[in-house]
Amino acid sequence: MTDLAGFSDSYAEARKKFVDAARRAGAKLASYQHPDQRGPGGEALYLDVSVLGPGDASKVFIVGSGTHGIEGYPGSAAQRAWLRGRPRLPKDTAVVFLHAHNPWGFAHKTRVTEENVDLNRNFIDFSRPLPKNRGYEDLHPAIAIRDWNEEAIAGVFAGLDAYRGKVGEKAFSDAFNGGQYTREDGIFYGGTRPQWSNDAFRAAVETHVGRARKVAFMDLHTGIGPWCEHIYLCFHPEGSPARERARAWWGERAVNLQGVTHKKLATYNGTIIGAVTEMLPSAEVTCVVVVFGTRPRHEMQRASMAQRWMRFEGPRDPVLAAKVRREYEAAFYPAEPEWRRAVLAQSQEFIDRGVAGVGGS
Ligand SMILES: [Zn+2]
Repeated sequence: MTDLAGFSDSYAEARKKFVDAARRAGAKLASYQHPDQRGPGGEALYLDVSVLGPGDASKVFIVGSGTHGIEGYPGSAAQRAWLRGRPRLPKDTAVVFLHAHNPWGFAHKTRVTEENVDLNRNFIDFSRPLPKNRGYEDLHPAIAIRDWNEEAIAGVFAGLDAYRGKVGEKAFSDAFNGGQYTREDGIFYGGTRPQWSNDAFRAAVETHVGRARKVAFMDLHTGIGPWCEHIYLCFHPEGSPARERARAWWGERAVNLQGVTHKKLATYNGTIIGAVTEMLPSAEVTCVVVVFGTRPRHEMQRASMAQRWMRFEGPRDPVLAAKVRREYEAAFYPAEPEWRRAVLAQSQEFIDRGVAGVGGS
């Protein structure tokens, strides 16, 4: 459990390790190549799929990484470690690993896609009017700072605090990170069209999971949460069978927000787990998000704004942008060995629990 060699420095390295581990485990592989984007070293970008177990299994456990690009590094290491652990599967059960939902963000070490889109706000129905987020309209002018310095950042936070005081915690969370569809240079931008990563994900789920009767999907993230711990987010309604399954398989913590430090969670638009539930209407579907905790909320909000600044203002000041980037990367992909060891140890346990839960009768 202490083999940290699975943690990579580049997308290409992570992909190679994942594919090698899947091959050695005897999994079948499929890949979806991004048609027109490349990594920073010119490397091709893919959503990779490994299927361990029967291709026509009626029970499937999906574990996905890299919905938020850079957050895929630890997710990839967790997937690789599990594949290397000589996994044994229950009857009629397959484990499908989706590697790098957003490979552009993974390769470029950012949460967003090539269009500054938060993929986890992009799974909306684009044939309908886009969701409105008037609260974000209020916040955007303050968030979109031109200069990145401590005084300016303190000013932004003073504005956010005043706004939170005025509208309350829930409306603040909805405004800040619920997702917005109007400011393409903003944060938590959901886009105005499906991203390639959205289409590729849907195609992969359709092809490799579409015939299953019982499905669980676990989406791996990093971010706000206790250091060296993981938290669960489960959006199935209180009292629903899906929520009870999550509780039975992963314990009380899967549904009681243990370790979650948000006073109020936003109502998120267009999440990838919501898409899985919608795509498989005739299957019994259970979805959870797992977040490996890195930093407190304040620091992660700062990181979200740093990402925006780097992309839209950073090119004017490359030296500062490089410094901001180091801080940003550490917020989503910590280098500390104790953190990485915790990711490996904890992930193997909750993946095993998922397999047992889905594979059970
Ligand atoms: Zn995330």
